[in-house]
Amino acid sequence: MKAYKADMHIHSCLSPCGDLDMSPKSIIEKCLEKGLDLIAICDHNTVENAEAIMLLGKRGGLCVLPGMEVCSKEEAHILAIFSNMAQASQMQSYVYEHLPGINNAELWGPQIVANEDDEVMGENDRLLIGATTLSVHQIVEKTHAIGGLSIASHVDRSAFGIVSQLGFIPPDLALDGVEVSFRLPIKEARSKIRSIGKLPCITSSDAHFLSDIGKIHTTLVMAEVTFEEIVLALKGADGRYIVSD
Ligand SMILES: [Zn+2]
Ligand SMILES: [Zn+2]
Repeated sequence: MKAYKADMHIHSCLSPCGDLDMSPKSIIEKCLEKGLDLIAICDHNTVENAEAIMLLGKRGGLCVLPGMEVCSKEEAHILAIFSNMAQASQMQSYVYEHLPGINNAELWGPQIVANEDDEVMGENDRLLIGATTLSVHQIVEKTHAIGGLSIASHVDRSAFGIVSQLGFIPPDLALDGVEVSFRLPIKEARSKIRSIGKLPCITSSDAHFLSDIGKIHTTLVMAEVTFEEIVLALKGADGRYIVSD
């Protein structure tokens, strides 16, 4: 077993609120510089930049998982993280079917689709910053049906977190874990937010700017960096675990 540094919530220039400097190449360079072993690209309601970043990660020896930060109809953010693009694309189709609106780039920011050479391939014109018409239960259910991991984003934040939106984490919601932001030490999370209960806790940068990358990470003790190992670490199974102090 070995300890690996993971940041499973990084935005790219495709998120309207993500800095334009968050290009595929720059993200990978920064992650390698910060010594991360594993990241997930989680743009708002889309996965269109993940493949380019995965390719660059592969070249650089960094595991990149495709994901997205889905906004529920209750305006709670839920991370959906997958092991491959086929799964992530399935989730994207489902989310797009339930995501109304058109982006106003001047108001919300541009949504740049880029390739592995940092070339602009186009702009996504959907309202990616918006809420889907899906409930948190539907998002978690669909993520699992496809084979992904479902983690509630920044549950300690006063906006767009499941606790801020619903008041608590529904006990019947089959989350694989919760994420706390850099504001709340992971070891204090469970006592501060009672409804976390026994759910696994991770922390991530939720980086929107290059300078956010590496400011915080989760340490996972696993045999190797694979999606299957991450699943075991979240469960605390077979000697794999999350370092939580
Ligand atoms: Zn969020
Ligand atoms: Zn985010």
